[in-house]
Amino acid sequence: MSMKVPYLDLGAHHAPHRAEYLRAIEEVIDRGAFAGGVYVEEFEKQFADYCEADFAIGVGSGTEALWLPLLAMGIGLGDEVITVPNSFFATAEAISYTGATPVFVDIEESSYNMDPAGLEAALTPRTKAIIPVHLFGQPADMEPILDFARRHGLRVVEDAAQAHGAEYRGRRTGSLGDAAGFSFYPGKNLGAFGEGGAITTSDPELAQRMRMLRDHGQDQKHSHAMVGWNCRMDGIQAAVLQIKLARLDGCNDLRRQRAAEYDRAFREMEEVVAPAGHEDRSHVYHIYPIRVRQRDRVMGGLAERGIGCAIHYPVPIHRQGAYEHLGLEEGTFPVAERCAREFVSLPMFPELRSEQVDAVVGAVRETVQTQPVS
Ligand SMILES: *Cc1c(COP(=O)(O)O)cnc(C)c1O
Repeated sequence: MSMKVPYLDLGAHHAPHRAEYLRAIEEVIDRGAFAGGVYVEEFEKQFADYCEADFAIGVGSGTEALWLPLLAMGIGLGDEVITVPNSFFATAEAISYTGATPVFVDIEESSYNMDPAGLEAALTPRTKAIIPVHLFGQPADMEPILDFARRHGLRVVEDAAQAHGAEYRGRRTGSLGDAAGFSFYPGKNLGAFGEGGAITTSDPELAQRMRMLRDHGQDQKHSHAMVGWNCRMDGIQAAVLQIKLARLDGCNDLRRQRAAEYDRAFREMEEVVAPAGHEDRSHVYHIYPIRVRQRDRVMGGLAERGIGCAIHYPVPIHRQGAYEHLGLEEGTFPVAERCAREFVSLPMFPELRSEQVDAVVGAVRETVQTQPVS
C-alpha cells in the first residue's frame, strides 16, 4: 500500500467552486467595494448569525481579531491577561501588543485546552481578562472559566481561530465569552483567499468601540474620537467567505467523519494517544493531533511514505525567545510541555478520503510498531 497523502489540500477544496469564486470576485471589482463596504457588511451579518452572536466585525486577520477586543476593553500597560502556553504565538502576541503581559496556565491533558483549575494561582490584582483557546477545533471548558471570570470581574475573549462552528453545551463558539476572535487564514476551517479575521460579540458598546478601532478610531467620516489602526477586512475576502460560510457545516461534518475513522483505528494502537472527545462539546477538527513517544522516528517514517504531517506547536509560547524575559523555565507547565514534545498533526481536511485515512493509519502503525535500531 503506497499512497501519498498531503497534510492539507486547498486545491481540492477550491476546485469544485472555482467559477463561483471568480464570479464573486468580478462582482467586487465591478462595484469597487474593495476595503470594507457592502460585501463585508453582508458577511458580518451572516457570520454573526452563524455564531449566534449579535454582532460580527470583519478585520484583517485573526491576530487583529484578538487584539482589538482587548484594546476596546481598555486593557493595556500594567495589566495581565491569562491564556495558555500551547497555542499559536498570536494569542500571546495580541496581549503583548496592547502593552499588557500574558500570564500562562497549564492545559488539561483530556482536551489540550485551558485547565480551569489553574486560574486561581494565575490571578493577581492586575488580571483583567482571560483568553481561552479552542485549540484544534474543540471548545475549552468554558463554564468554569466564565464562572471564575464573573467572580473576579474579568472579561473573557475566546480565541476561536481554529473552531468555527464548534459547540459547547449546545452553543456556538463566538457566543460564549464577552467577545471572540476568528481567523480566516487560508488553511483554517473557514479560510479566505488571503488574510482575514472577524470578532463576534453581543455587547453593543464593545462592538461600537471595535468598529471604531478597526477604522482609525473614526466615529464618523473625518472625526477621529480615538487612536485606532487600519484593521479593515477586504471586500474580495468577504465575498469569498460568504460562499464558503454556506458550506462550512458540511465541511465540518466531513472532518468529523474522517476523525471518527482515525479514532477507531488508533483505539487499537497503544503507542498512539488520539484526541479525546467530550459529550458536552462538538469538535470541528481543524487539526487532528495524535501523541507518540518517539516523534522524530514517526515523522521520519511518515515522510518516507509520502504522508504529510506537521506539529502544532513544537515550542510552547512561554519557551519562545520573545518571552524569555518572563523567566518561565522548562517544567513550569508540564502538561503543555509534554504534549508539545509528543504531538504530530495528521492530514485533515474535508476532501480527505477514507482510503487516504487508511493509508495514514497504516503508515503510523508501521512506524510506531517498528523497534528503533539503536
Ligand atoms: C491562526 C491562529 C491565530 C492567528 O490568526 P491569523 O489570521 O493568522 O492572524 C490566532 N490564534 C490561533 C489559535 C490560531 O490558530
